[in-house]
Amino acid sequence: MDRSHIYDTFARAPLAFERGEGVWLYTADGRRYLDFTGGIAVNSLGHAHPKLIAALTEQAGKLWHVSNLFEIPGQEKLAATLCAHTFADKVFFGNSGTEATECAIKTVRRYHFVAGHPERYRIITFAGAFHGRTLAALAATGNPKYIEGMGPKADGFDQVPLGDIKAVEAAITPETAAIFIEPIQGEGGVRVPSNQFLRQLRALCDRHGLLLVFDEVQTGIGRTGKLFAYEWTGVTPDVMTAAKGIGGGFPLGACLATAEAARGMTAGSHGTTFGGNPLAMAVGQAVVDTILADGFLDHVRKVGLYARQRLAAVIDAHPDVFAEVRGEGLLIGLRCVLPVAEVAKALRDQGMLAAAAGENVLRLLPPLIVTEADVDEAVTRLDAAAAALAPARAEAKA
Ligand SMILES: *Cc1c(COP(=O)(O)O)cnc(C)c1O
Repeated sequence: MDRSHIYDTFARAPLAFERGEGVWLYTADGRRYLDFTGGIAVNSLGHAHPKLIAALTEQAGKLWHVSNLFEIPGQEKLAATLCAHTFADKVFFGNSGTEATECAIKTVRRYHFVAGHPERYRIITFAGAFHGRTLAALAATGNPKYIEGMGPKADGFDQVPLGDIKAVEAAITPETAAIFIEPIQGEGGVRVPSNQFLRQLRALCDRHGLLLVFDEVQTGIGRTGKLFAYEWTGVTPDVMTAAKGIGGGFPLGACLATAEAARGMTAGSHGTTFGGNPLAMAVGQAVVDTILADGFLDHVRKVGLYARQRLAAVIDAHPDVFAEVRGEGLLIGLRCVLPVAEVAKALRDQGMLAAAAGENVLRLLPPLIVTEADVDEAVTRLDAAAAALAPARAEAKA
């Protein structure tokens, strides 16, 4: 195969898949892989889910795209579903997580602007965050590696250490508009801030008139065993982003807000050509309806707990490879002792896929339909990968 005409921006594994079914991916030559990358928390219902195929093909035969110059009943329906099951009153649909971040940034700035405070535009974010790759989302993300060589960093973002409430307080100025946080940092390494910290953020926002924004692009849509992770925390945000799992593999993102928080987003203040088109809405509705169906989230919580228990035993058996298990539901991080890239490769050699993250953490993001038997398969492969790595480890020590 020839990748020479593709931008070299990704360090890709030397693997191409031809088809998928449930938690499995198949190469053209018939090798199969247990997919615990899940398209980076995107394939929430696994590969080739019959309901999603039906939703997509049925809509494909009727209407793909009309633009937002017209009413789109599918948007009204999906927005109503999302609002009925969250704190939100209003939704803007886009195509990705980073666009959802952009919409959230605009929402919080316009909120203060229409209140007569255009000077309140700064946003506090946290070290280790990931909010996307547009220039503003990158400034929110704050990772110097991603910003280097891309011109002046977009102004208006102040980053503080995760969990440090004193630093947050010190960063608030009369120009601050909002605080952005992931209820669990995914790319950062499945780092879980305490509920107490999140409650303190809410209190600070209330005291200073700031909006609290949760980036649930990775944690949302059932990943943690609730529709959105904020439901675990006892804290309600004013604005929230979703993407990744909401389309089950179809590009779709959303920014959700209370009516109050969205009051500045008046006609003409924001837009998109593709966002919320009928194809995306048909698939998104099928994903969300499936996840909201009786028992589905119970299943996620139950399998997540089971995985956690089995993984604890894997760590005990291989303390020279794995150090710690983190996360909630099926957003699971395994902190590695060996370099995570080596562990991921050893795992691929055993026919299993998982995603690297910050802090040398291996992320396990299986489709939410994963069963306990699939988790057993994963554990077998993790054990085998760790055993295969052990001789190299012993050699390195000698
Ligand atoms: C992946 C991710 C994004 C960016 O989403 P894209 O669809 O890649 O633009 C933003 N925030 C979080 C928390 C993410 O995990």
